[in-house]
Amino acid sequence: METRLLIGGEQVAGDGDVLPVENPFTESELASVGLPSSEQVDAAIAAAREAARSWAATPAIERGEILHEVATRMRARTDELAELMTREGGKPLIENSDEVGWTAAAFDYYAELGRNFAGRVIPAIESTQLSLVLKEPMGVVGCIVPWNYPLLLLSWKVAPALAAGNTIVAKPSELTPLSTLALAECFEHLPAGVINILAGAGEVGEAIVSDERVDCVAFTGSIETGKKIAHICADRVARINLELGGKDPFIVCPDVAPAIDVAAKGGAWAAFLNAGQVCTSAERFYVLEPVYDDYLQAFVDYTSSLVVGDPLDTSTDIGPLVSARQRDKVAAQVDAAAAAGAEVVIGGSNGSNGTGYFYAPTVVTGAPAETDLLREETFGPVAPLVPVKSLDEAIELANGTHFGLGANVYTKDLDTILRCMRELKAGTVWFNDPLTDNDAGPFGGMKQSGLGRELGQEGLEAFQETKHVHIETSLAPKDWWYPYGGGSSQATGA
Ligand code: NAD
Repeated sequence: METRLLIGGEQVAGDGDVLPVENPFTESELASVGLPSSEQVDAAIAAAREAARSWAATPAIERGEILHEVATRMRARTDELAELMTREGGKPLIENSDEVGWTAAAFDYYAELGRNFAGRVIPAIESTQLSLVLKEPMGVVGCIVPWNYPLLLLSWKVAPALAAGNTIVAKPSELTPLSTLALAECFEHLPAGVINILAGAGEVGEAIVSDERVDCVAFTGSIETGKKIAHICADRVARINLELGGKDPFIVCPDVAPAIDVAAKGGAWAAFLNAGQVCTSAERFYVLEPVYDDYLQAFVDYTSSLVVGDPLDTSTDIGPLVSARQRDKVAAQVDAAAAAGAEVVIGGSNGSNGTGYFYAPTVVTGAPAETDLLREETFGPVAPLVPVKSLDEAIELANGTHFGLGANVYTKDLDTILRCMRELKAGTVWFNDPLTDNDAGPFGGMKQSGLGRELGQEGLEAFQETKHVHIETSLAPKDWWYPYGGGSSQATGA
């Protein structure tokens, strides 16, 4: 199992403290990783800085070929990477195999997009001039990611940042470093220093974020950490891209009554995928009253059929949560809602007699609106269902938090689709197909759910600086220069 860091093209053991990595299913230690000393963090940033100039000068088509090769190498190692992610994170194997495929696809997508766009030509002020808008690399990008989709969320940063000509210092979560460190082989054909991979927790992350040599920080994680990073970067006016938490609403409209089972299955999947540890998990269900009872029944029936167990077993639907801490946080939120009068219709307990940080898929009704279960991120397999009288009420409740990551609606009514599309304050609005990502579709949050977008053209531009170039080909003096006594008064406008 790979536990070495990647610094300046060399795989090296960390000289700092030792980080134990736990398997959340067996609750036993899986590996220990030597963390980087402060000298090694410094060396990784220096290596990225050193490599930045020649990587930026590498033709985009060559960078594209190199990124396609990264994708090919990843696909060839799908089974190994998926198993490693399952052992360190607890996500079911089938979901992790998919994740490796999506990760490789992001590299292929940006390999092509990166050679397709470097700016634009704009109409010049005079006929003797040429005006260009250049999109240039920023320099060194620090990429810091969480544990729930370790490789995918890394690829949404690393692939576009490399395609745009930047170099990288990456840090996975302290809970899931192994699959990321195992990627070193997939990057072997890159010039030394173009990508550096460290390990560690907030301390290493903060060292990267605070370093003046890091031009841009791309972060996915909690709002709390995102705010800390934003403060540090504001101080030195470093670029930031923040993908933060969510509390996604899920609205079910009466016109789906004939397909209520489908809407219930879609809802349960959106709530329980990766044991609810998805930033776009459906965490609040607003169901129009005419279909509420049938929806609840179908949701509970389907939930009771789901298989909770060993995440390496391909018949498992839901594995353990990533850690005891995460499980306890979820349980505390459900218990507080129950204490405030909510009913736990199904689930609400560990859901396993053996080892593993399990929490059974849970359906809750009657949670008071002010409980955390309906206001703060849960990040666990819990679906609170709330009956609503009208679409107005559903939209108002959906928009009533400080989050704005995603939103789901089940309806085929065109008027309802148009209203929800326009009025829901969320970075992505899904109709009748929850949580489907598209590499070409920008992903990110409104309000406190984030700043900037990943994926799509926007996800490339997030790692580009903009430069306006104004070229005059004539050396004739301008008639608006001095002396004013004899010239016009045309201003520059600047
Ligand atoms: P977290 O904020 O605790 O940690 C995320 C990463 O930041 C980790 O690598 C961690 O080591 C690092 N970190 C911690 N403190 C730091 C600091 N002071 N400076 C720099 N780096 C620091 O989040 P988590 O618990 O790992 O992940 C769960 C959170 O991630 C949830 O809130 C979830 O919604 C969010 N998330 C968001 C998206 C999205 O795309 N919007 C996707 C997945 C997860």
